[in-house]
Parts: sequence; C-alpha cells; structure tokens
Amino acid sequence: SEHVVIIGAGQGGLQVAASLRQDGFKGRITLIGDEPGLPYQRPPLSKGYMADGDASRLALKPQGFFDTEGVDYRPETPVARIDLAAGRVQLAGGETLPFDRLVLATGARNILPPLPGIELPGVHLLRGLADAAALRAAMAGAQRAAVIGGGFIGLEFAAVAAAAGVEVTVIEGADRLMSRAVTPPTSARFLDFHRGAGVEARLGALGAAILGDESATGVALADGSTIPADLVLVAVGVRPNVELAQDAGLAVADGIAVDGHLRTSDPRVFAIGDCASFPLGGRRVRLESVQAAADHARHVARSIAGQEQPPYDALPWFWSDQGPLKLQIAGLSAGWDATHALQDATGATDTVLAFREDRLIAVETINQAGRHMAARRLLAQPAGISRDTLAAHDYDLRAALS
Ligand code: FAD
Repeated sequence: SEHVVIIGAGQGGLQVAASLRQDGFKGRITLIGDEPGLPYQRPPLSKGYMADGDASRLALKPQGFFDTEGVDYRPETPVARIDLAAGRVQLAGGETLPFDRLVLATGARNILPPLPGIELPGVHLLRGLADAAALRAAMAGAQRAAVIGGGFIGLEFAAVAAAAGVEVTVIEGADRLMSRAVTPPTSARFLDFHRGAGVEARLGALGAAILGDESATGVALADGSTIPADLVLVAVGVRPNVELAQDAGLAVADGIAVDGHLRTSDPRVFAIGDCASFPLGGRRVRLESVQAAADHARHVARSIAGQEQPPYDALPWFWSDQGPLKLQIAGLSAGWDATHALQDATGATDTVLAFREDRLIAVETINQAGRHMAARRLLAQPAGISRDTLAAHDYDLRAALS
C-alpha cells in the first residue's frame, strides 16, 4: 500500500498524520521526529508552562492515538538525507525508508546572533521543551534577566519572569515592540503594559556582547551601556530548517518553496508549516504559526487522500498571551498604509484595524475575542471589505458582518 513519510513530528507533521486518517487514508504512515517523547505544542512553552512548569498538558495526542490509528511514530530519529531519485529517506542511524509521498515539516530553529559570549552558561534560547525546562529552572534562581529581542517569545517570557519577581530588561533594536508583526498602536499598548508590570524596555538598543567569565553577568549594548543580568534569553527570530530539502535538490526561497497546493519542485514531496514558503494573496510568505502549520497539514492530507480542492488560501491568524493581555491577530498587516485604533472604557487601545489602499487587511485585538472572530469572518469574505463600509458601521466589526 501507499507509504507516506512525514519528516518532523511537531505541530504540522502530527496534524498530517491525524488528518490523513480522518480523511480515510488507509496506507502506511511513518512520522519521524528528532525530539524525545510525544509530539507537543510549543505555544505554552513561553506562557502557561513557563509559569507553572506543568508539562502534562503539552502533548498533541496521547500514545494511544499512534497505536489506534496505526501511525508509526519514531522519536529521536533525525533524518539525515533524502534521496529523491531512489524515493527514500535515510535516517541518522543508517536505516533507509522508501516513500511514495513525503511531507517536510521540519520547522525552524533559533537564530544565534554572532555576539561575543553567546556560548556562556546562563544564556538561553527557547524553541523546544528541553530549552523551556532549562530556562524555567534558571528563572527560578535568577534575580535579573535580560531578554534580547522584543518579539512575541521574548515578551511572553518577560511577562512571566516579571510576574515571578525577576527584574527584566528587554533589549529591542527597533523603535517599537513586535515591529515585524503588529502595527504601532498595538506595539504602544504592549509597551505600556510591560513598563507598568515593571519590565524595563530599551528600544532602539542593540546588544553588542554578553558579558561574563564563567557565566553570563550581563549584556553590553552598542551605545556603551551595560545591563546586568544573571540570565539572558536570546529571542531574535528563527530560520527555517531547509537543509534536507536543499541538499536533495528541492527549490528553496527563504523557506522550502511550494506551489498553491504546498507541493515542492518534486510533486511527490510537500512542505508545510514554519519551513515552507508558499503563495498567498499574490505573494510568497512564510508564517510561523500554529494556524499555518495545522491548515497546511489539512490541505496536504486531503491532496494525498485524493480529494479535489481549490488552492490553499486559509486566512492567517495568530495569538500571543502576555500577562493578562491576549493579543489576537486576524490577517497579515505587512504592507499596511493606514490604521484605525479603537479604545476601551479606560482609554487603552484594544483593537487596531490595518488597511492597505482602503481595504481591510488585518485586525489586532487585545482581550476582545468576539471581535477577533468577527474579523476572521470579515477577512475571509472573498470580496474583502472597504474602509468606507467599516466607517459607515462606525468600525463595529460585528455590525459590518451582518
Ligand atoms: P515544529 O512544531 O517546530 O516541528 C518541527 C519538528 O521537526 C521539530 O520537532 C524538529 O526538531 C523536527 N525536525 C527538524 N529537522 C528534522 C530532521 N532532519 N529529522 C527529524 N525531525 C526533524 N504560534 C502561534 O500560532 N501562537 C503562539 O502563541 C505561539 N507561541 C510560540 C511559543 C514558542 C516558545 C515557540 C517556540 C513557538 C510558538 N509559536 C506560536 C509558533 C508555533 O509553535 C510554530 O509555528 C509551529 O510549531 C510550527 O509547526 P511546524 O510543524 O512547522 O514546526
């Protein structure tokens, strides 16, 4: 029978296996991961797990799933090579596995900036459960933490650490927080929150070196100042894991390049999730989100199960929990040329609409789950929605829906 091999047992890879069975696929499924234990979710690592240390709720599926559904899951088994001509993958131990269809779900890894001292004990990265466990243990004994990078992961950690009584400084090179992913009013709201929670945010500040002899004692900034710290989290973004694909001769462009059905330059091979560069709305994007990994996985599973479907066009959405604030994003704000912010009763921004050429392209909400869901429905409408229409409804998303 047909054999589907999935490389990478994270959010996307696991979902391919689950969706294939839901879609009635009867062939063989092998899911190959390089981490120990059951496939797990990463979002809680910088949120709930960082706060309470409870790893028991992280698994995406219980062991019983693999037995019942007949999914051959192989943890701690890095794939070393893909041989497209022979149609097989080679595991690090030397074993080879033939495939009929191959799904690449290899995710991404943290960028290690070339900072002197980055190898010192006390310097942490956060991607996997092992990283999170080490960081959490270090946080328990830390007095001062420096976070290099004011993106989602750095800020989620900062909120947890500050709540645990650690003095936290966030060092961000841009002039606002989360600048790659959110609009300025949302950045400003989160800057207010973090400062109010006691976090020091240094904007427009570049880390130049990590100080210390036996372990990290602080971060030297490019402007000559020093941030003392006994714990340093480096959270400056990720790079897609494309090497296996590249070495096999598949096309790569930032991520593994795929078509509208998430097929690589070899039609037997798909790429999904953080490692994939895919066409969406007339351009090529690479998204780092649970939504993209899971929706890609469902699309690929339907293709493999033989179902006809239109090209992939799922609406991107995302969330980040920082202290009591739940940020939710519908759509992609990149390329916005105007924003419209709404305030709650206390005057704090709780919704930002982002426009390009007077069309709504994204909505950022803070503790406004109902509005987020309305935004998703509005943005998913094929015709989209104009700024004029929204203005006519006084920017009430639910009213504009009906
Ligand atoms: P992953 O889940 O990273 O899985 C890839 C797997 O492939 C990994 O286990 C990797 O080790 C393995 N692998 C790589 N190479 C090989 C090989 N050669 N052989 C075998 N296995 C290999 N997203 C959100 O939407 N909301 C959030 O709030 C959010 N919070 C996050 C917090 C943290 C701390 C992190 C790290 C991520 C967060 N994300 C969040 C992002 C989200 O977790 C990822 O987008 C998602 O996990 C991507 O799924 P994936 O399957 O593409 O990759």
